[in-house]
Amino acid sequence: MKYEKLADLYNSLGSTTKRLEKTKILSDFLKELKNEDREVLYLLLGRVFPEYDQREIGISNQLAIKAISRSTGIGENEIVKEWKSKGDLGKVAEALVKAKKQSTLNRHELDTKKVLENLRKLPELEGRGTMDKKISLITELLSSASPEEALYVIRTVIGDLRIGIQESTIRDAMASAFFGDEAESASHIQGALDKTNDVGKVFEMVKKGKLKEIKEISLEVGKPIKVMLAQKVKTVAEGFEKVGRPCAIEYKYDGFRLLIHKKNNEVVLYTRRLENVTRQFPEVVKYVKEYIKGSSFIIDSEVVGFDRKTKIYRPFQEISQRIKRKYDIEKLQDELPVEINAFDILYYDGKTLLHEPFRERTVLLKKIVEDRKYKIKTAEQIITDDEKKAEKFFNQALADNQEGVMMKNLDSIYQPGSRVGFMLKIKPEEREMDLVIIGAEYGTGKRSGWMSSFVLACKKGSEFLEIGKVGTGIKEKLGSDTKGTSFAELTKMLKPLVEHEKGRDVEVKPEIVITVTYQEIQKSPHYKSGFALRFPRLKSLRPDRSPSDIESLSQVEKDYEKQGK
Ligand code: AMP
Repeated sequence: MKYEKLADLYNSLGSTTKRLEKTKILSDFLKELKNEDREVLYLLLGRVFPEYDQREIGISNQLAIKAISRSTGIGENEIVKEWKSKGDLGKVAEALVKAKKQSTLNRHELDTKKVLENLRKLPELEGRGTMDKKISLITELLSSASPEEALYVIRTVIGDLRIGIQESTIRDAMASAFFGDEAESASHIQGALDKTNDVGKVFEMVKKGKLKEIKEISLEVGKPIKVMLAQKVKTVAEGFEKVGRPCAIEYKYDGFRLLIHKKNNEVVLYTRRLENVTRQFPEVVKYVKEYIKGSSFIIDSEVVGFDRKTKIYRPFQEISQRIKRKYDIEKLQDELPVEINAFDILYYDGKTLLHEPFRERTVLLKKIVEDRKYKIKTAEQIITDDEKKAEKFFNQALADNQEGVMMKNLDSIYQPGSRVGFMLKIKPEEREMDLVIIGAEYGTGKRSGWMSSFVLACKKGSEFLEIGKVGTGIKEKLGSDTKGTSFAELTKMLKPLVEHEKGRDVEVKPEIVITVTYQEIQKSPHYKSGFALRFPRLKSLRPDRSPSDIESLSQVEKDYEKQGK
């Protein structure tokens, strides 16, 4: 397919903010889209691979500037100047390519295959001379691009497409293009997306028009799946009301989610962000092989840290570094031991269990997992209809250093990717939420050189709306125990994400997710969300979460309403 055609689509999509219009435009496009061109759907989502494949283009603004400079012959300083005034590196590329008439005269035509081919090489490059090769790959595309195509090539490589398309828009457009807008078909398509994490594959099935096949699409062991999410309740009584009596109540471990896949004696571990973390947790691979029966399975679990000497469970932030660390793994394994608490099973020995009731899934899980405390075991659980017993269990979980409890409906299916009411979480009164950092302010005096106040946002669709600033809960200097988060660390993480600078203020790409605690939500005319947090305090970085996992504006509104009661 000609890249020009895709650029036209981007333009139409970018020209309206109305979701329904976007869906209509996209639906018309999908009707015409040939199966062999289905991979452009990855490009539409700002990616080059399906979502289950976590490789990202990962090009910094600086590198993009170098590529623009090389392909247009304009100096980097000049480009930076233009960028500051236009605020969009894509627009800069567009103008400069336009000015360089020659390139448009004898350019080759660009097609989407070539764009994908070059961009797919980017994440593969490592080591010496990498930067130059990356620049060449982008330059090659820019040299064949029309001004408008250059705009989108640059926006794609820096991960800022600005067309406002999410997976859900593609889902609705598919439903409308091939099944005439039915909510039911959209929900089956969503199910297929959550199971496969491959919008290209789902398109192929949808195009054939067989809804039944889409509905029954199976899980594939080894490929990451989106996990089922929990809803919040305040009290055990409210919980019973929602999930019925009796229900299962489990510890809510203060750790991070881990999906364990096993097939042909090979174990693969994924986080809820679909990152493969198998290498980081060799001991977990061993436990799974030794203590779980079965030749193939997909198990859902929470990884929790504990102190090797005292055997006391530790908060999440203390083991969080194990997720990202790629070196010294053995040392870290020794210093920050973890225990796996399995709590659900999605697939077992050739059979998808998503539609089996939880009561049966949990029985099977207990049958196949051999409990080994401080290694791997099933989550602490009681099944009860009694509020007193539930309260007691809740207190026991807190005394055991965990966050609270989960209440689970015994008849429920497992619905990947959804925040459905089959599983509820209850935590004690202190309120907290996950937000993303979208900006920061450089400090003065003792804190000069560091970013010292951070602008937080919740989400509304694909938008991020400011809801407050946080500067507490962060350390000047880490003590010898290296617990917590320092200004220096946050500054280092945010610097490569800076988009704009104005005086001491910077805007950053929304990537870093943090958990903050707060006392109250207030209405605020100052912030775009319309709300502000009172006394926000950074509790921990959440490298295991992505910006799409953060608190939504509608949840903030609900929380605000509730606290008034
Ligand atoms: P939250 O992250 O606050 O939305 O709470 C839900 C999370 O609790 C899940 O995504 C899991 O990572 C975690 N969790 C801890 N223990 C359990 C459990 N027994 N069952 C389900 N989720 C659990």
